[in-house]
Amino acid sequence: MASLDRTARSFLLTELLSGMALTLKMMFSPKHTINYPYEKGPLSPRFRGEHALRRYPNGEERCIACKLCEAVCPAQAITIEAEPRADGSRRTTRYDIDMTKCIYCGYCQEACPVDAIVEGPNYEFATETREELFYNKDKLLANGERWESEIAANLELDAPYR
Ligand code: SF4
Ligand code: SF4
Repeated sequence: MASLDRTARSFLLTELLSGMALTLKMMFSPKHTINYPYEKGPLSPRFRGEHALRRYPNGEERCIACKLCEAVCPAQAITIEAEPRADGSRRTTRYDIDMTKCIYCGYCQEACPVDAIVEGPNYEFATETREELFYNKDKLLANGERWESEIAANLELDAPYR
């Protein structure tokens, strides 16, 4: 009986026709793929991308050189040196992140008491050399200036859950 059934299905091409019907149906259904990099998918406000050092609106650096991020980093990717300024405030003289070591755990951001070091929404920072992934303070501050509006909006969205 089973072999008769198989023969009938082969003869009537039912499997071929059902496959073609499925193809036709998928041609008119919403696409699950996007045309990256021209189209981009949605990102969570908690997305942990490229690091940035932020400033206050008056231009002052947020970082107070407490070194909590350096201490908490499980990959030992952060290196900070600091000294007091003439006005008595404590600021970093060196803030490096070795992005080749970073595991994007987000602990540095969680540990920071002033939201200075953050992982922003940028994920397009691939490089051709390792050296380009050794970030210094200038690079991190430049990232902060470039992404501040997106970072601030994401922190505000996430604030109720922190
Ligand atoms: S995300 Fe994690 S591994 Fe990367 S620098 Fe921050 S604490 Fe270190
Ligand atoms: S980035 Fe934040 S946690 Fe790290 S040294 Fe500066 S203030 Fe402290």
